[in-house]
Amino acid sequence: MSNSSRYTNSHKIICWHLTNKCTRNCDFCLSKSSTNHKLNHITNYKSVIDKIKELGFEKISYSGGEPFIVPNFENIVNYGKEKGLIQIVTTNGDLLFKNFDIAFLRKFQYLKFSFYGTSQYHDNLIGKGHFQKLISLITALKPYNINIGINYMLTQQSYLALEEFIQQISKFQLYSFLIQSYIPTGNSIIDSNYIIDKFDLTFLSNYVNYFEQGIKHFDYNVKEGFQVILDDKQNIYFPNTLNCSRFYYGSVFEKEKDFENIGLIQLNKLVEQVVNKRVFSNEIKTY
Ligand code: SF4
Repeated sequence: MSNSSRYTNSHKIICWHLTNKCTRNCDFCLSKSSTNHKLNHITNYKSVIDKIKELGFEKISYSGGEPFIVPNFENIVNYGKEKGLIQIVTTNGDLLFKNFDIAFLRKFQYLKFSFYGTSQYHDNLIGKGHFQKLISLITALKPYNINIGINYMLTQQSYLALEEFIQQISKFQLYSFLIQSYIPTGNSIIDSNYIIDKFDLTFLSNYVNYFEQGIKHFDYNVKEGFQVILDDKQNIYFPNTLNCSRFYYGSVFEKEKDFENIGLIQLNKLVEQVVNKRVFSNEIKTY
């Protein structure tokens, strides 16, 4: 990849959906993850991470489903660390509530917990008691200096609760706060319950000092800002590329591929192009 001062490792990021198996069944789940999926065993994780590195990525964002459900997740993260990659993980916390391994959690740049509003609305979406469990987990992890970031999904309902939520969470002095616009699932009945068109987030500047990395808003209407995705079958997808909202390339192990009406595409060139677009899209607003 070419050098540019505007690059940050957040631009050279790949989101690896390790699994579609989850501990929850949320109707708005973009990855359509659920408890029903089978657990896949990622035996070739070293080759995948080597490939990620070879393609020029600097950071892996693990998501799912629930990444901690993957039996050899720790081996995967250890190898990523050995290869010098920055790693973050988005988790619903379910598998950390009872016990957590501090040494393992320290291998991540930070853990991201997703919230969907204040307790009542959050619990309605995710399950009774989940909000308080996440708060207890944050309280338990704080003394160990584990970096924790908050993902806050912006919906019609969660927008109304945002100021109350941020007041509540600010006291923990966490690592980051990221507001993500709701990403439509494509099911208009589900989406009409959540999607929000008009909002004003300027008040967030009052809370910026409570988060080490500040507060960011990831506007999903800016499609160039989407991350490159690696799915659980190790196929790679690109956002808003080659006239497709989601361009499916195929296996991450294919160096080049011939596409009808497009021609030969080299995977490393495509990655470079998409990362460049992310750099200049200004998709992330910082408060
Ligand atoms: S907890 Fe997250 S990954 Fe699991 S089903 Fe719900 S939205 Fe999807």
